[in-house]
This record gives sequence, C-alpha cells and structure tokens, in this order.
Amino acid sequence: MDNPFAAPVMTRTTLARLVPYSDSAATPSAAPACHGEDPDLWFSDRPGDVDRAVQACRRCPLLRKCLRYALVHGQNSGVWGGMPEEQRAALRAELLDRTGDEDLDGTRELEAALDQHTLALGQEQVAAVSA
Ligand code: SF4
Repeated sequence: MDNPFAAPVMTRTTLARLVPYSDSAATPSAAPACHGEDPDLWFSDRPGDVDRAVQACRRCPLLRKCLRYALVHGQNSGVWGGMPEEQRAALRAELLDRTGDEDLDGTRELEAALDQHTLALGQEQVAAVSA
C-alpha cells in the first residue's frame, strides 16, 4: 500500500513532515490538521492533550488515510486518525482476530471499521472523498 506520509513510523519529530506528502499543494484544504501544531500533543500521556489531538484530527481531510495506515502497519504510539493508541490497539487486535489475516489492508473488516470511525467523528463527507 502507498504510504501517504513522510516516514514509515510517525514520531514526535516526523509528524511535522506529514505535510509534504499530502496533496496540500494541489488542494490547500487537504493539508493535515496537525500541520503547525505541537507534535507532542499527538504523543502525550495526558488525557487533555489526547482529547485535543483527537479534536484536531476530526477536522483533518487525511483522517481516514491516517487511521488506515496506522492500523495496517501496527502503529502503536500516539493519536492517529483521531484514535488514541489504546483504542487503536484494541481495534487492530479485534480486526486481526476477525480476519485471521496478518495483512488488514483491503479487508472488508478494515473498511467497515474506518467507515464506523469516520462517521462517529462526523467525517462522513471526508470519508467519501479521501478513502
Ligand atoms: S488524522 Fe490527525 S494525526 Fe493524522 S494527519 Fe490528520 S491531524 Fe495528523
């Protein structure tokens, strides 16, 4: 699968590098919502910070791609696609169990989970254009 992001593993220092790999040059509105924000917010242990990161992700046009990447690649640190790490780890384990497959990419179960998450965060319109 294509990696829409700058680095194979998003860390505090690589989060800011998401922007060049988005299609923000063609469509400025497609820039990641985390661009220009403090990357530590996405990797904080403080619930208030995690909530702020999730809220920022809610308005991100890359939310679905971001969460897909994190689930497929087992990113286990930080908030990705508006989902905190504990929630994402539980979802990934559930998906791996349900699919019986180590590769979640392209599975019906992953797409259904992404649909559910994007809808839950009020991103149904973004989901349709950025799947
Ligand atoms: S969904 Fe969140 S972490 Fe992912 S690119 Fe957008 S703002 Fe950044």
